[in-house]
Amino acid sequence: MDTDTTAGPERTAYVIVGGGLAAAKAIEGIRESDTTGSIVLVTEEDRLPYERPPLSKGALKGDDELESAYTHDRDWYADHDVELRLGTPATSLDAEGHALTLSDGTALSYERLLLATGSSARALEVPGADLDGVLYLREMQESEALKARLTDGARVVVVGAGWIGLEVAAAAREAGCAVTVVEPQAAPLLGVMGEQVGAWFAELHRGHGVEFRFGEGVERIEGDDAVTGVVTTSGDTLPADVVVVGVGITPNTGLAEGAGIRTDNGIVTDSSLRTAADGVWAAGDVASWRSVTLGTNVRVEHWANANDGGLAAGRSMAGQDVTYDPVPFFFSDQYDVGLEYAGHVARGTDAEVVLRGEPSGNEFMAFWVVPEGDGVRVLAGMHVNVWDTIDDVQRLVRDRTVVERDRLADPDVALSELT
Ligand SMILES: Cc1cc2nc3c(=O)[nH]c(=O)nc-3n(C[C@H](O)[C@H](O)[C@H](O)COP(=O)(O)OP(=O)(O)OC[C@H]3O[C@@H](n4cnc5c(N)ncnc54)[C@H](O)[C@@H]3O)c2cc1C
Repeated sequence: MDTDTTAGPERTAYVIVGGGLAAAKAIEGIRESDTTGSIVLVTEEDRLPYERPPLSKGALKGDDELESAYTHDRDWYADHDVELRLGTPATSLDAEGHALTLSDGTALSYERLLLATGSSARALEVPGADLDGVLYLREMQESEALKARLTDGARVVVVGAGWIGLEVAAAAREAGCAVTVVEPQAAPLLGVMGEQVGAWFAELHRGHGVEFRFGEGVERIEGDDAVTGVVTTSGDTLPADVVVVGVGITPNTGLAEGAGIRTDNGIVTDSSLRTAADGVWAAGDVASWRSVTLGTNVRVEHWANANDGGLAAGRSMAGQDVTYDPVPFFFSDQYDVGLEYAGHVARGTDAEVVLRGEPSGNEFMAFWVVPEGDGVRVLAGMHVNVWDTIDDVQRLVRDRTVVERDRLADPDVALSELT
């Protein structure tokens, strides 16, 4: 390590900035090998670190207690000798001076710093977007606020047919709401899934009573104090009691940028999640890490990357030799459908979709492939309700296996035979 671990007591050994999963897992990673170094956790939110997937699923539907989203209870932090600075965002970073300033004016001097500042929901910038009843879903209190409004018969307009939009649509339908999704593109999740699989998602939701307005955006939101309707770019007015905006997220790179640390769609790190600044690491949604397998930097906005990347960063900060090289992975639950996806299709890649099984039965797999040699190479694969397959998908991607297209498409050929 090139950081000075023998500096005076005024320096905190590890400062973690962030209150999400990556931050919490980093503490676990540090404590695996360093049980005594001082740790301070600095977070903007006035609560302990928590995971976000339940906010649009179990907790939103009332199936799970919101408290189950916390990664650890308060005692765990005390037991692991972690000083908590909740509700106190870091406002500036001096990377050369190893100093972090917090909103209350505190200056923290650190040996090693983790930036796990995650992402923020992108704002919908149209007239009326600040009316009461226009909601976002990123933080715990937003999930609670939305849950209170998802009552039987409520008219919900969801803006954006991405993961958050679709999961909210499913929760709202299960709560008995009338749901319309407005999406400028021609299908849900078009950028990730392509037309064919995107169309399957649309059918899944239509089958549960969701209406879609594809090819339309939001012109303005109407209401006096509270929202009453959404005017789309086609001029139609959709009556609404609640509007949920899910139009993507932006990585919180401000601290790094202010400190002159390189960012490029995320904070740029090597494959041990270290930035080029001495003693500074980044992990989770905010990090663009060097993937050895993919041969490029990638930024992944999903749970597994926060979980595994946070742990890896903590280990690396504590001096373990770490190469963080997962095949990117995510999951989603909508109605009675559970899915997992592994792999990475770089933007602009002309990948063909190979289906395995019949989508109409809600049990199938999809692979995104490119031609190679006598067959095809799998860039990514997803299963819908075909459990225990994702390890094989990850192997196909990692090993860059060239497979026969027909065998890939044939549900009677075990995936393990192809890997
Ligand atoms: C509703 C919802 C549902 C999701 N469902 C799924 C799913 O089903 N599957 C899946 O794979 N992924 C899902 N995700 C994505 C997943 O939750 C994220 O990838 C994950 O939360 C990223 O964790 P993180 O720790 O990197 O960042 P975050 O969880 O965003 O946490 C970052 C934290 O840093 C804090 N922070 C920011 N700036 C500062 C600062 N200057 N000083 C101090 N603190 C700061 C923030 O307040 C926040 O607490 C979901 C996300 C949401 C919002």
